[in-house]
Amino acid sequence: MRRSLLRFYDRGHRDLPWRRTSDPYRILVSEVMLQQTTVSTAIPYYQDFITRFPDAASLAAAREEDVLAAWSGLGYYSRARNLVRTCREIVATYGGEVPQRPDQLRALPGVGPYTAGAVASIAFSCPEPALDGNVARVLCRLAATPGQGSAERRRFDDTLRELLRGRRPGDLNQALMDLGATVCTPRRPACSRCPVRRHCAARSEGAPEKYPAIVKRPRLRQVSACGVLIRRKGGVVLVQRPEGVPLAGMWELPGVSGLEEPSGPLDVGGIERVVAAQTGLSVSVSGILASVRHTVMRKRIVLDIRGGMVDPGARHSHPLRPRERSTALLLPRTHRILRPDTTPALPLSTACRKSLAAVDRLDLCGTGRQRLSRLQSRPSTRR
Ligand code: SF4
Repeated sequence: MRRSLLRFYDRGHRDLPWRRTSDPYRILVSEVMLQQTTVSTAIPYYQDFITRFPDAASLAAAREEDVLAAWSGLGYYSRARNLVRTCREIVATYGGEVPQRPDQLRALPGVGPYTAGAVASIAFSCPEPALDGNVARVLCRLAATPGQGSAERRRFDDTLRELLRGRRPGDLNQALMDLGATVCTPRRPACSRCPVRRHCAARSEGAPEKYPAIVKRPRLRQVSACGVLIRRKGGVVLVQRPEGVPLAGMWELPGVSGLEEPSGPLDVGGIERVVAAQTGLSVSVSGILASVRHTVMRKRIVLDIRGGMVDPGARHSHPLRPRERSTALLLPRTHRILRPDTTPALPLSTACRKSLAAVDRLDLCGTGRQRLSRLQSRPSTRR
């Protein structure tokens, strides 16, 4: 099996930018990006990120806001924050060199067994498993086992350690990743092209797609949210999410972060009070201009974009009601103006980027060819 996998890898592995380097820092960055993101989505981000932060020292010295801006659109922003903390630790403890031992790697912020195994095996040729979803699926099918539970995961780990006890452990891990991504795919495995088909119990049974067993996921929760588009000084008003909440530090349209059904959306008066508390501006809010949909962390969010006019005569000094306070995510009375021509890249939440794209599509800001969403515009996809 080892020989077949290496032959498969040598004959035509995927040509990915992080496979053209042996720099452990770059391999670490790529593996962190790939934790929740597809390869095709990660590639342009990886290239920009490495150009901007070419080594651990440059990332360690960077402002978190700049790193989040470079990550903007990839989602799961705790990965970016952890990567900065990891690089600071690498600089402080290891003189700027990524440590080699799996236990040292696992002790770094945000580096779990998979990432540690991938970096240790690919960059340092340690025989360490890198068990991701693709590899787990291949192992499930080889053994015709449902693949659920921690005991199974441990067994897969043992199997991989056995397999990696030869030469080229990094290439073997990558061969299994490629096999899962390109041949042993979830719905239609191409068994006739598989280099390990004669070892495969699921194929012998005749229905490899049965494995791994399907896990029933909980239903998505429906959430309504609202962003208010306030045009000001040739741009659009944005507010920053405070510390201690998901997506802390990201910028977005002022408004209501999310109300779960059946409580339903706030009325216009409630939205105006929330926006006033967030921005320090008295704003009259109008009707819905556009709606965008966004799914994140088991929530399906419908975000209505409403118009907002700064109206110094409007009086929104009333205190927020409890329900308004709980959804406002307040970092009170601070805002910035995003302009298509002058604003440096800000870390924008994916929902905000979708909102700006909708604003651009309808040309609600009259910015013509200078598109707000083009400041940072890439789609985000789960791996
Ligand atoms: Fe997957 Fe088919 Fe190969 Fe088995 S033979 S590992 S099911 S592609």
